Amino acid sequence: MRKRILLVTLLVSVLGIVLLSILFSDVFYRQSIEAVGGQLQIYMNVFSAERQNEPLDSATAAAFSEELGGVRVTFLSAEGEVLGDSDADAAQMEDHSGREEVAEALETGEGFAVRDSATLGYDSVYYCRAFTEGGEAYLVRLAVQADSGLSIFVDALPTLLLLLGLDILICLFVAWIATSYILRPVEKLTQEAATGAGKEVHTDYPELQPLAKMMNDMNAEIGAQLTRIRADRRIEKLVLGSMEHGIVIFRSQDDVLLINKTARRLLGYEKNEPIDCFTADAEVAALLAAGEPATLARKIDGRDYSFRFTFGEPANVLLITDMTDIMAAARSKNDFIANVTHEMNTPLTSIRGFAELIGAGAVPPERLKSASDTIIKQSDRLSHLIRSIINFSAIDSDDLPDYEVDLSEVVREVSATFEPSLRQKNIAFTEEVEDGVKVLSRRERLVEILNNLVSNGIRYNKEGGSLAVRLVGGARPALSVSDTGIGISKENQGRIFDRFYTVDRSHNGAGGGFGLGLATVKKLCRRAGWKLSVESALGEGTEFKIEFAPRK
Ligand code: ADP
Repeated sequence: MRKRILLVTLLVSVLGIVLLSILFSDVFYRQSIEAVGGQLQIYMNVFSAERQNEPLDSATAAAFSEELGGVRVTFLSAEGEVLGDSDADAAQMEDHSGREEVAEALETGEGFAVRDSATLGYDSVYYCRAFTEGGEAYLVRLAVQADSGLSIFVDALPTLLLLLGLDILICLFVAWIATSYILRPVEKLTQEAATGAGKEVHTDYPELQPLAKMMNDMNAEIGAQLTRIRADRRIEKLVLGSMEHGIVIFRSQDDVLLINKTARRLLGYEKNEPIDCFTADAEVAALLAAGEPATLARKIDGRDYSFRFTFGEPANVLLITDMTDIMAAARSKNDFIANVTHEMNTPLTSIRGFAELIGAGAVPPERLKSASDTIIKQSDRLSHLIRSIINFSAIDSDDLPDYEVDLSEVVREVSATFEPSLRQKNIAFTEEVEDGVKVLSRRERLVEILNNLVSNGIRYNKEGGSLAVRLVGGARPALSVSDTGIGISKENQGRIFDRFYTVDRSHNGAGGGFGLGLATVKKLCRRAGWKLSVESALGEGTEFKIEFAPRK
């Protein structure tokens, strides 16, 4: 800016000086020509007064010229023929009637002309006047040399250069002062804007007010945008940080733009280093080299993960998802279907076998009764299985509201229904039930739990064993069902709550169930937030305990 102002100032002033010099040279030249013309007219008057009667030859011309201090004198006839000349041989000189000053004098009585001289830097100034003597006309021409316009300009050049030098110095000074005055407030303004940390800038100059306003508006806008960006970044960080998925955004193996906490942990990544598995894992390295989107399965610390790579501009993304639970769920679903199919297959095969035998008349009449009993028993078993599966699955979609149930009453009612079975197996039954113990649930759920625990206590009991049901109230009600039956080994205690798990597969189909009872109890307790536990010793007995949610 300063440079530009200086340059423009210099250019304008130099141009001005040069133009003025040319103008002055021209004016001076015209004035000097005019002065020379006037001089020649005076000389001509001298001739008219003093030398009119002398002969018009070169000698008179030379004498007159000498008298006038070297002015060239030429005498011409009325036809333009040179009669005498102070500087040249008249006989040699050509006809002068065509010369501008001569032609003009012949026409008007006097003529004036300026012509380039043979001598460089000078012009010749001619003045010619017509005279008549004794009825005969002739012309007298006087000529002197005057400085040409160019030579005047050349003469003035040293002064001009000096002026130019001075001009440059003055321009430098003036431009510096001027630019300082003009730019200082602008510089102050920009400095305030740059270092003011978002504070409003202010100027006393009305011309700069719009600029200050614009800067303040822009500063405010930038400030708002920065706040928005910071907030976005915080949210971004929060989202990425709390994501259970691992995410890596990278340009190349060793140019990682973003990596969240989960990915750092899973990939063992420290700050500013290339990601190990990008080079160490051959399959990953090949995938990165190909740049084709793909998903790889990887195991980290015994858990299953999927590594999904997507490639693009401006960066590539690796999304790491923990697939352990999803895969376990898929496996569990497959197991469930396999178990259901298996459990259904057994009674169906039996029913079909007997039905075919009866149909083929292969069953003797005396055994028909037992065959039909088997068919009925297997059908019951099948419908029991189906009911159990429905019950088990229905828990997930059971959104019916809880209410206060008198558990003491339910325990007594359910226990009573088992009296025949207890008697049949000669089991001593004790019931220690506190009155009025209430829990928040639904009656049918509590009946389901009790049915499963009490029937197991009978089913897996010994002949002549004992079974006890206890219910205590208080701040945290608890129900326990304990027997002196076959017990469960330590290793099986962790698995008896799995679906379709039975300790002794030989139970299936016979007196045993399908391994859905305890899974149902567990699911109901988990949904209600109750604590279910088992204590057992193989060959001695088992105790199942439920601690209900504390009463509010
Ligand atoms: P089931 O219908 O086979 O009884 P459960 O889910 O109720 O299925 O029980 C799973 C397994 O746990 C049973 O097969 C049995 O081996 C064992 N079990 C359950 N209750 C008892 C108990 N009171 N005493 C000994 N073993 C038991």
